[in-house]
Amino acid sequence: DSVVNRIAAGEVIQRPVLAVKELVENSLDAGSTSVNVAVKDSGLKLIQVSDDGHGIRYEDLPILCERHTTSKLSKYEDLQSIKSMGFRGEALASMTYVGHVMVTTITKGQLHGYRASYRDGVMENEPKACAAVKGTQIMVENLFYNMIARRKTLQNSSDDYTKIVDLLSRFAIHHTSVSFSCRKYGASRSDVHSIATTSRMDSIRTVYGVSVARNLIKIEASDNDSSTSLFEMVGFISNSNYVAKKTTMVLFINDRLVECSALKRAIEIVYSATLPKASKPFIYMSIVLPPEHVDVNVHPTKREVSLLNLEVIIEKVQSVVESKLRDSDE
Ligand code: ADP
Ligand code: MG
Repeated sequence: DSVVNRIAAGEVIQRPVLAVKELVENSLDAGSTSVNVAVKDSGLKLIQVSDDGHGIRYEDLPILCERHTTSKLSKYEDLQSIKSMGFRGEALASMTYVGHVMVTTITKGQLHGYRASYRDGVMENEPKACAAVKGTQIMVENLFYNMIARRKTLQNSSDDYTKIVDLLSRFAIHHTSVSFSCRKYGASRSDVHSIATTSRMDSIRTVYGVSVARNLIKIEASDNDSSTSLFEMVGFISNSNYVAKKTTMVLFINDRLVECSALKRAIEIVYSATLPKASKPFIYMSIVLPPEHVDVNVHPTKREVSLLNLEVIIEKVQSVVESKLRDSDE
């Protein structure tokens, strides 16, 4: 049974950056305004995510890491209209099957916090009272300690730290009222990647540099003429002066960071048709749809979404992108 759980967990948490994504999403779900990440050995030795969110209640600690424990779904029908990013109660549980998880948390109005540690889906001891400031800190140590092959591949492959910084940068662009930071554990203050911004353009400038921010066009679209499909989109796309070999697409659908390769390809097509000499694009896009039109449950890591009315959305986005590119090129 524990082998089965471990294999399933390895699917949800394929590499350190995906553990970070789950932890940061939980912090955002908890209403945090500050999320700080520290990692050791690219996340294999340690991932630590600290937030200033609403914390976890004492009585929830014993069951926190049991599979399918979530405070975000009360009934099955909720799955049809998921508003928060987490919903299956699988992430934390999974981490306890492939690493050692320690949670320190304090809820509002409490004089002290609690600390609990977890393995294989269960809490190891009674939670211990401890000092805590505000919010939650989750530490995941020795990720994949029991999956030797996975550990070896990750140790030899490219640095997950870069991927983690990139991930937090994407969150920072969208969540402009949250400050994010990332550092290698034990590194000096000067090595901290700190991203606190006030406006979206400001955050793009901080994360991707002036040369990117200078070459962006604002885009907007909505489709509320029919009663069935409501859709709002805002974003920034690069103009013909932007230079890059690869497309950067930062896509949020209903405030979740996701991937939609069909939409990405559709936009790339518009670029090569409209600005044949331009480079691959930079795209930040935030799309809001009725929750029941978004299926994030297709993939265990929730990365690739499937959308109802995808064709309609693609067409609309393509036409807005095309007209903006033509305007800017005149
Ligand atoms: P999900 O996010 O799908 O509910 P998780 O396994 O990611 O499942 O988290 C389980 C539960 O733990 C969440 O529903 C939430 O109640 C609680 N939790 C996890 N991380 C935090 C956090 N940083 N702050 C407050 N609550 C948290
Ligand atoms: Mg979650």
